[in-house]
Amino acid sequence: MTKPLVSVDALEVHYPLGRSLLGTPPVLKALSGITLDIPQGSFFGLVGESGSGKTTLGRAILKAAPISVGSIGFEDGEVSLDIGTMSKAAEKDFRKRAQLIFQDPYAALSPRMTVRDIIAEPLEVMGLTKNREETDARVREIAAKCRLNLEHLRRFPHAFSGGQRQRISIARALVSGPKFVVADESVAALDVSIQADILNLLKSLQSELDLTFLFISHDLSVVAHVCDTVAVMYLGTIVETAPSRELFRMPRHPYTRALLSAIPSLDPDAKPSNLKLEGDIPSPADPPKGCRFHTRCPFAQAKCRTDVPVLKDAGDGAQVACHYWQASLF
Ligand code: SF4
Repeated sequence: MTKPLVSVDALEVHYPLGRSLLGTPPVLKALSGITLDIPQGSFFGLVGESGSGKTTLGRAILKAAPISVGSIGFEDGEVSLDIGTMSKAAEKDFRKRAQLIFQDPYAALSPRMTVRDIIAEPLEVMGLTKNREETDARVREIAAKCRLNLEHLRRFPHAFSGGQRQRISIARALVSGPKFVVADESVAALDVSIQADILNLLKSLQSELDLTFLFISHDLSVVAHVCDTVAVMYLGTIVETAPSRELFRMPRHPYTRALLSAIPSLDPDAKPSNLKLEGDIPSPADPPKGCRFHTRCPFAQAKCRTDVPVLKDAGDGAQVACHYWQASLF
């Protein structure tokens, strides 16, 4: 089995909800009991509705959200880091090894900077090049890999389409030579034809630069296109993980099945699934007891309202957190 680049162990992220004069102040548990490994060189998908905690998990791995309980390890052969306890010096080193591609290519780029300066900024802030010539050479190298026209480096972002802007964002994220990249809804704001183009670019960059991706998306059909492994999140917990092909062949958790049945089929003979999600995702400030999905699950039993299901092996590389996943398949 491939060594994990990122190992998340029993992670919880809590945010305080105001103050309390009596007793412990209330907290919002954005993530609860998250354990997963992201293998080196993988394109690891994280899916779920908005409010499921996907972005918080990506941010926690990048040390941009508080680790309240548990740990996150990062090991790329050259360094071995505990994200929660690393020193300032180690954090500086980590910043060049782990980067984020933003969702919105319009908001992510400063309108007052040229494309060259936008891509060069991380090199200058992190002090990774010795002089302007070296910076320019690195900017040109990564811009070419991201299939940007080098003539455009002197222009400003407003001159570009959404797809071109996202290429600039990708070049900026990759210019420091990271090994791990979090792509948070990175194609959600783009037209479908441009989405495919950007996804293909990310896949080719993955093999060319030996990258590991955490690809966050609410769209399972996009995840199916690029990811080799998928984790499905619901209300701050992971309910299922599996190799992509297995997840789409046989989704085991009722929530995964409901998400898959929401994808429109182009096959006119395909039978529509009757497993539909109803109601909204409950508030993470007051999650349901037992299985967090029980308020929306058509297979819920009495045990589901009291006992928390844990992730367990379910065959063919899949893990599922459901007391009755086998029974719910029929
Ligand atoms: Fe549904 Fe119960 Fe399984 Fe939760 S544990 S998904 S409520 S059957």
